Amino acid sequence: MLELRPNCECCDKDLPPESAEARICTFECTFCADCAAQTLKGTCPNCGGNLVARPIRPPRMLEKYPASAKRVLKPGGCTRAA
Ligand SMILES: [Zn+2]
Ligand SMILES: [Zn+2]
Repeated sequence: MLELRPNCECCDKDLPPESAEARICTFECTFCADCAAQTLKGTCPNCGGNLVARPIRPPRMLEKYPASAKRVLKPGGCTRAA
């Protein structure tokens, strides 16, 4: 099950579970759409995997399986992908 992390690892932007802007890699490193497209060019800076849109968990499922509240932030922020 996805953690549904609450923020972008690059810029710390809030990414609530219903956000259509969240992008994730296979390890669920989580980024906003702007960072994913512009800074990272679609590639996760942690694992090198591709970033895809995070699926939105239906509200009734969020009650039963809540999103993570633990913010993950990349130390030093993100640098532009090479
Ligand atoms: Zn961001
Ligand atoms: Zn990753």
